Amino acid sequence: MSRPGAGTGHQERAAPTLTAICGPMFSGKSSELIRRLRSAAEAGVAVRAIKPRLDTRYADGEIVTHAGERLTAVSVATALEIELAAGDAELIGMDEAHFFGAGLTAVCVRLIGQGRSAVVAGLERDHRGEAFEPFPHLLCEADEVIKLTCPCSVCGGPSVHSQRMVASDARIVVGGAEAYEPRCRRCFGT
Ligand SMILES: [Zn+2]
Repeated sequence: MSRPGAGTGHQERAAPTLTAICGPMFSGKSSELIRRLRSAAEAGVAVRAIKPRLDTRYADGEIVTHAGERLTAVSVATALEIELAAGDAELIGMDEAHFFGAGLTAVCVRLIGQGRSAVVAGLERDHRGEAFEPFPHLLCEADEVIKLTCPCSVCGGPSVHSQRMVASDARIVVGGAEAYEPRCRRCFGT
C-alpha cells in the first residue's frame, strides 16, 4: 500500500536517536557498538565509526575489541573533528567516548538536530569510581542507555568499576588487561 509522499522524494525516516553504551572495562561496550553499527549497515543505513586518536592500543583506523572483533573507524583528535569525520553518515558510532571529554555531548546533540543518529560507547566512571565526562550530561540527553557489566575479577559478582592496576594519578591511562581489572562495588579499591 502506498503512503502519502511515497515516490515523490519524501522518504520517511525514523526519528534520530542517541544511544549511550557504558559500563566498566571488559564489559563488551565496543562489541555492542560494533554489533549495532554492522546491523544498521546491513539494513542499508550509511554508518561511520569514529574513535579517538589517543587510543592506539591495538590499531589506528580500526576499533578493535578485547575479544578481537574489528571495525574500520576514522580516528580524530578532538570531539570538534567528529562532525567533519562523520561525512554524510546517517548513524555515527563513537568508541572510547571518555577520551573526547565533556564537548562530546554537544556534538551528539548537533548530530541529532541534523536528523542523524548516534551511538556512543565508553566508561561512565573513571578509575576512582567518579563520573567521567561526557557521561553525566550524555546520559541525560540519551534516548537509550545500555549499562553493561562483566564478572568482578576478585569475586565474580557484577562489576561496575574499572580498577587501575598500575600506579598513576592521571585520569587517562590507556591500557588493557595489564592496567585495569573489572571490580564490583565491594571489591573496588581492595
Ligand atoms: Zn567483587
